[in-house]
Amino acid sequence: MEQKVPVLWTEQLATTQEDLPDPKAVDLYEFRFSDFPITEHGLIQCGLRLFFEINVVEKFKVPVEVLTRWMYTVRKGYRSVTYHNWRHGFNVGQTMFTLLMTGGLKKYYTDLEAFAMLAAAFCHDIDHRGTNNLYQVKSTSPLAKLHGNSILERHHLECSKTLLQDESLNIFQNLNKRQFETVIHLFEVAIIATDLALYFKKRTMFQKIVDACEKMETEEEAIKYVTADPTKKEIIMAMMMTACDLSAITKPWEVQSQVARLVASEFWEQGDLERTVLQQQPIPMMDRNKKDELPKLQVGFIDFVCTFVYKEFSRFHKEVTPMLNGLQNNRMEWKSLADEYDARMKVMEEEVRKQEEGNMIEKAAEDSGSGIDDKKSKTCLML
Ligand SMILES: [Zn+2]
Repeated sequence: MEQKVPVLWTEQLATTQEDLPDPKAVDLYEFRFSDFPITEHGLIQCGLRLFFEINVVEKFKVPVEVLTRWMYTVRKGYRSVTYHNWRHGFNVGQTMFTLLMTGGLKKYYTDLEAFAMLAAAFCHDIDHRGTNNLYQVKSTSPLAKLHGNSILERHHLECSKTLLQDESLNIFQNLNKRQFETVIHLFEVAIIATDLALYFKKRTMFQKIVDACEKMETEEEAIKYVTADPTKKEIIMAMMMTACDLSAITKPWEVQSQVARLVASEFWEQGDLERTVLQQQPIPMMDRNKKDELPKLQVGFIDFVCTFVYKEFSRFHKEVTPMLNGLQNNRMEWKSLADEYDARMKVMEEEVRKQEEGNMIEKAAEDSGSGIDDKKSKTCLML
């Protein structure tokens, strides 16, 4: 028994670059990437591959066994909840990689910054409980006592930083003090930025950067404008984290429709807890009795939250347009399901109305004298 775990770990740690998946074969450079055909273990291998692809392993002298151990531990840090599990964590990392490489956003960042952004993306929801910040507050969870705002995000950040305190997991162990501080600062900005409550505040700031870059004559001018100001780089990075976190909404319909059901299921599970534990009525989004409203809720979410993110990113970098196209296609699909549902409801309402009308006529007939006579005659006939 005691032998089994170390043997398994030795096997896992023996990973070499050659054993890792071919990025092209599994669409690692594509916005349309789907984790569905890949096992959870396979995703760890893909994650390792991404660090090699951005060339940080050699450059920052990351011991391969430390990187491997860190990746396995990150995966283990995710609970097996319905949606906010390791698969979601991986997808956010993969989208960060794709935005940097395929989307061309790497040009604003140093290799060290890209390294930190990719690692932070993988870690961003570690130890998520499948319930949101408001639930932590309402249930007075220990986390809510610990953190005043962005409760879960602060917890994910703490977990991520704790991993790095263990030298056998510290992928940044060969950085100098200043570099290490930069990484930790970026982890803080990136992970806290995944709190959607903060997204609305940074929207205008991001839009201003995109507006300014759009007016510039050359690419060099835009790069200079962004890179000369660390705040601009952080605003873009924060918005990239949001784009990654919500990226399931941009995936091909077969993927999006399934992932949306996982998100909804986790919400409904929270709704159940609100009813049973908190004795409160959940909001429609978390109420499994209002399942049929999912398509309408998705259209609303796309219109009020997601469209801005992918429209602005596509305007900023045209290479990101596949995400916007995917989003618009999914909007069309959800809208037609929502319209179908509305049409069905209309028919049902009409039937109810007709039924009620019929009942009223009958009642009026009963109340009038003739109705009574009819009944009498009927009785007479039967007799
Ligand atoms: Zn997330």
